[in-house]
Amino acid sequence: MRISRQKGTKDIFGEDIKIWQYIEKNIREICSAYCIEEIRTPVFEATELYARGVGDDTDIVNKEMYTFLDKGGRSITLRPELTAGVVRAYIENGMSSLTSPVKLWYEANMYRYEKMQKGRYREFAQFGIEFFGSKSYLADIEVMMLAYDLFKRLNLLDDITLNINSIGCSTCRAKYIEKLKEYVKPNLSKMCDTCKVRYEKNPLRMLDCKEENCKHVLQEAPMITDFLCEECSIDFENVKSTLEELNIKYIVDKKIVRGLDYYNKTVFEFISNNFNFAVCAGGRYDKLIETLGGISTPAVGFGLGMDRLVLILKEKLVNKLEKNVDVYFVVLEKKAYTVCRNIVSSLRDNNIATDIDICNRSFNAQLKYANRINAKYICIVGEEELNNNTCILKNMQDGKQRKINLLSEDILKEIVINE
Ligand SMILES: [Zn+2]
Ligand SMILES: [Zn+2]
Repeated sequence: MRISRQKGTKDIFGEDIKIWQYIEKNIREICSAYCIEEIRTPVFEATELYARGVGDDTDIVNKEMYTFLDKGGRSITLRPELTAGVVRAYIENGMSSLTSPVKLWYEANMYRYEKMQKGRYREFAQFGIEFFGSKSYLADIEVMMLAYDLFKRLNLLDDITLNINSIGCSTCRAKYIEKLKEYVKPNLSKMCDTCKVRYEKNPLRMLDCKEENCKHVLQEAPMITDFLCEECSIDFENVKSTLEELNIKYIVDKKIVRGLDYYNKTVFEFISNNFNFAVCAGGRYDKLIETLGGISTPAVGFGLGMDRLVLILKEKLVNKLEKNVDVYFVVLEKKAYTVCRNIVSSLRDNNIATDIDICNRSFNAQLKYANRINAKYICIVGEEELNNNTCILKNMQDGKQRKINLLSEDILKEIVINE
């Protein structure tokens, strides 16, 4: 009997895995260039971590978590996001005593029981970075710049738009929330049920609502940026002017409040112009470390949806990613196989993607196979070549071929020269 994969999960292979690897390679390179270290944390954590760290009136915690009791009766949750987990690790491992700022990155699978949409899965991956220990707007800039540079490396600058906002600190936000509630109150009955709850529990989130009625009510609502205290206001101005100095285009979108409780001051989203969804989102969260029991530490970071990024890149990269066989050996007989085997090993030691028949195919079948897998070169060793200790190296891209010595150094030289 056949067993299918679970709803909201996927198998990644073929063209797709090449796109994933291409992105992951760029992530590793860019994080290392920005002097950020990788962190890996457990797939499951105590449910309490997310209730406290993400907020127990968020959709994530209320509706979307994979939570279960383990055999020891503990309430366990598969991580629905990673900031809370990284903060837990930061506190638990005493990283606050390290030289600050502490700059970490991760790429990992996460789990949310969500409605299916394009680019959205129940098991999904995010790349993210978290900077701890700087309250300066310069950290906000560095974090946004890294995302911007990643999009640049992936040739996506024309496909994305950076939207930013400030949601102030607890002081200015309290004043704003009062004004917002005052404004909504006469029309509260027109709002959706979710917003009625948000009105009491987390009024800012009403601005996130996708219901037409709610959007209509909020059309003329006061905006947080008009209520920022002096410190928050200066910070936001600094963020904007520095982005301009760096020639990073942005739009101020006063509606960005982010779906998570722990943000303050700068929040931002990189939106896909084509798909109209946020591919990367983040901001400052100066209170989260305290909330989770650590020493008060300012922090800023982002999460980037890998599945969404793959979707955006997919159209652009169709057939453009390099095939991964550099040299395929087409060998006539067993004797040739033995000789070539050593050369194959030596090329592989030099990181040349080298392949040789393991199916006992005929000479002609090997040739056909080499064509089918789009090997960049084929190295032909027939009887004559074997007797002269030579081989025919054929460049499959331009069709040119040369007879050269059957030596790994000579083959290596040819390939390197022609690349
Ligand atoms: Zn403020
Ligand atoms: Zn609503």
